[in-house]
Amino acid sequence: MARSILHVDLDAFFVSAEQAREPSLRGKAVIVGGNPDGRGVVATASYEARVFGVRSGMPLRTAKRLAPDATFVRGDFDLYADLSRHFHAILRDYSPLVESGGLDEAYIDVTGCEAIVGTPSEAAASIRRRVRVELDLPVSVGIAATKVVAKVASDRAKPDGVCEVPAGTEAAFLAPLPLRDLPLLGPSMEARLVQLGVTTLGQLAALPAASLEATFGKHGRFAALRAAGIDPSRVAGGPGEAKSMSREGTFASDVSEPAHLLAVLRGFSESVGAQLRRHGRRARTVTVKVRFEDFSTVSRSVTLDSPANSDDALFAAAAALFEAVRARDHRPVRLIGVGASNLVPDAVQLSLDATAARSQDALSEAVDRVRRKYGRKVIQTGRTAFDRVTGGAAWRHERSLGLSSQIEPTAHD
Ligand SMILES: [Mg+2]
Repeated sequence: MARSILHVDLDAFFVSAEQAREPSLRGKAVIVGGNPDGRGVVATASYEARVFGVRSGMPLRTAKRLAPDATFVRGDFDLYADLSRHFHAILRDYSPLVESGGLDEAYIDVTGCEAIVGTPSEAAASIRRRVRVELDLPVSVGIAATKVVAKVASDRAKPDGVCEVPAGTEAAFLAPLPLRDLPLLGPSMEARLVQLGVTTLGQLAALPAASLEATFGKHGRFAALRAAGIDPSRVAGGPGEAKSMSREGTFASDVSEPAHLLAVLRGFSESVGAQLRRHGRRARTVTVKVRFEDFSTVSRSVTLDSPANSDDALFAAAAALFEAVRARDHRPVRLIGVGASNLVPDAVQLSLDATAARSQDALSEAVDRVRRKYGRKVIQTGRTAFDRVTGGAAWRHERSLGLSSQIEPTAHD
């Protein structure tokens, strides 16, 4: 049976959040990202600023040159996180299958929910109304039978619109669009396809599978299927179904310094640990992902002697994996991430000699309780406090982008 999937994406989220708080910014060129004379990048630009060519991920200095009269805002992660939580809570009223794609976007599978939420387009209209009334934010929705088409459709719907692609018309909808409109098609593959004379998704979809596989491996074949709107991936919703938990972030600018990278790994290990404990899970496998300045990516995994969910155990494994990667490659790092997989229920019997591990668990749980009650900033370990010393702006950006798995800064549009 065809599925009904919505991709719901807040428009220029950080800018819209600032405009909701400060209405005098509405209708103006607004750029969120920090000091325009610093070395950070644009997190989000208002549509009025985009007219001047300003884009997410662009150095702020370039943005300042293109739009000298724009209002530059430093950004407020705590505000964005609160709005994001409320946004996701609204979405969960429409289906149990809600898969977050970051702070400002999610897939919702509303198949079979018609009796409660109406047709998919009625559900989309209702979501848009609630987000507008409760959060004062504009949001766009794509509706389709597959995730990839729903995501492309929400991009086409922006700003503040809806785009529905009826089942059976996916390939025709995608065919005229440029390659860069296809999610997960990396810049290096795009460049090589352009060299081959391929510039639209229709041309990509029409390439013979054998030659794609010869040039790009199996990624090439998947890209061609996705370019035709074919995407078997399901909306992964509900904490009980999670097979892995991860946290990754793209740096505001590439980082080489090991102490800085380890501090970020520490923060991400704590975040993954908190997720595991909240869902009553332990991980047998820990993975570290490192993407270098040229977009080449290395992943390394380790299987733990006993499944873990303490901050210290996860960080110890992640740090060892990271050191192994760095021993072979010292290039500046663009993105870093920590993942936990091979999850088992928390009630796993600890081995008798694991007294030390048990006291680590107790410490992590105590920290979680205090943070839940008083907020994250109350307790920081030595390493997560690092950002206060080395430039909170860069860290802030990492945290904000960190929630969007595998999505480059433009995904915040
Ligand atoms: Mg968005």
